Amino acid sequence: MSNPTDDELRAAVREAREAHPDLGVLKLLVAVKEKGVTVSEKRFRKVLSEVGGTVAGGAAVAASKPAKKKKGKKSRRVGDHLEPETHLDATLDIKAIAPKVKAAMFGGARGKGLVAAEELQMGEMIWREEPFMACASPALHQMLSANQMCNHCLAAWDRLPRTVAACPKCPAAFCSRLCLQRAQESSHHPLLCEGTNPAAAPLNEFIQGREWRSLGIVARILARFLGTRAWEGPDAAKAYDARIFSFARVNMEERERDNPAFVAESGTITALWGMAHQLLLSALHPQTELEQARLAKILRKGGRQVTPLTDEEEQRWFSYHAFLELLGMVNINLEDSGGLYALHAHLNHSCEPNVQVRNLPKGWTPPDSLPAPLPERMQRGTHKLTLLARETIPEGKELTISYVPLDMPRSERQKALRMGYGFWCDCVRCERENPSKQGKTNGGEETHKNDVVGSIATGVRSLTVGQ
Ligand SMILES: [Zn+2]
Ligand SMILES: [Zn+2]
Ligand SMILES: [Zn+2]
Repeated sequence: MSNPTDDELRAAVREAREAHPDLGVLKLLVAVKEKGVTVSEKRFRKVLSEVGGTVAGGAAVAASKPAKKKKGKKSRRVGDHLEPETHLDATLDIKAIAPKVKAAMFGGARGKGLVAAEELQMGEMIWREEPFMACASPALHQMLSANQMCNHCLAAWDRLPRTVAACPKCPAAFCSRLCLQRAQESSHHPLLCEGTNPAAAPLNEFIQGREWRSLGIVARILARFLGTRAWEGPDAAKAYDARIFSFARVNMEERERDNPAFVAESGTITALWGMAHQLLLSALHPQTELEQARLAKILRKGGRQVTPLTDEEEQRWFSYHAFLELLGMVNINLEDSGGLYALHAHLNHSCEPNVQVRNLPKGWTPPDSLPAPLPERMQRGTHKLTLLARETIPEGKELTISYVPLDMPRSERQKALRMGYGFWCDCVRCERENPSKQGKTNGGEETHKNDVVGSIATGVRSLTVGQ
């Protein structure tokens, strides 16, 4: 039907909705178009509202399922935003990392967050943190391969440090044995080092060729799961599981469902996800006996007997569903400068944040008297994050950072946050700048909710920019 009448279109929409009751508006539109029906999104939405009811994720669905009050939350769609699944991680000793901070569970899309346990003064260093899972940005690859930088902590070198240590199986270089040791748990896992596990080479090449950093982190998460399980035993594996599954997460398909750029290219993107998943399996969970034997040999190092994964473990870590969840988790938690940070990942967003995130050089020391001005922007330091109070923060107030550059106009911020993180920001600044609340005519500010345009962004939190 290249030019359907209203009646024909209504019939086609009804039919598609019955065939795909779980699809959101845009995917339903794609399903209708796949049937050869030519229709604009605007007309489609109009007809959809005429045939009545809602589609999956519509307001009526959300209203019938009130949020459960519990410690953690499942990822779900409420109205037109996503609420990531999130939990507090009992194994994370927040007091030891940031004594003046405590975790809190908020309702709704905010999930978990951090609040000041006592007053914080402007310029105060609240905490410093190394990544739980480190990963350099593709912009640094050249320096890394030229040995101008530590492969783990990303400290730049004028010349090789005296303490330099190399991976025993490949040319990767590190500041010292300590950095090498940390790298083996995080940024340079033995199962992904091609010298140790040659089956990882095609995966590494794919990650670097596509500069697909979040995939690189997913690979490290899976490698570390296998390594922890084999070399540190069941208790360590359990703690690791708790840490990984406490990061807020949304499934990639769920996240991209309303993104027109995704819908337009969903075939290509889904194929890429499939390819990435296959490469992960070949490297870390191979299917042929020969490859399985090779991997088992690496995992047996140290003489421990390694049991095969249970069906449940296989599902939880290596299924395609698990892959999309892990990818979604990394995308909403990845910090631009260095990877995944366990405590920093608790911080919620505000367009008027009270906390500043910086990568300061190694020699930086906290101010000795407070309040103090924030440090000037300096050359980047290592991957260690420093969190500073941008203002005096009273006890009990939530600590916030900005996930997007602060100089973006409101409508841009709203789009970037919805596409990248699943929520419509209603922070004080967004409310203050909301044209419809200023008594002016609504210059289309709200219409973007049905008209979001975003790239299939990798969703990296650019916390150090524009602040
Ligand atoms: Zn280092
Ligand atoms: Zn290596
Ligand atoms: Zn805002």
